[in-house]
Amino acid sequence: MKTMTCQDLGGPCELEHRAATADEIIKAQDKHLREAVKSGDETHAAARDAMKGRWMHPKKSLDWYNGVKRAYADLPAS
Ligand SMILES: [Zn+2]
Repeated sequence: MKTMTCQDLGGPCELEHRAATADEIIKAQDKHLREAVKSGDETHAAARDAMKGRWMHPKKSLDWYNGVKRAYADLPAS
């Protein structure tokens, strides 16, 4: 398991996600952004839109995904 924060993933807060793979971390962040925006948290709206754009343009977003995967791989396991 490794930990990345909302901020590590382009979001505005320091909520920590723990997961066994980078993909799971990205999914957890996606869920967190959706729930935050749904509950009226405007500070997460820009990150939510960016994440939505990534799902719609996966090829253009490869750099972002690879960056997250690299950052995840470099983290110490805990
Ligand atoms: Zn957050």
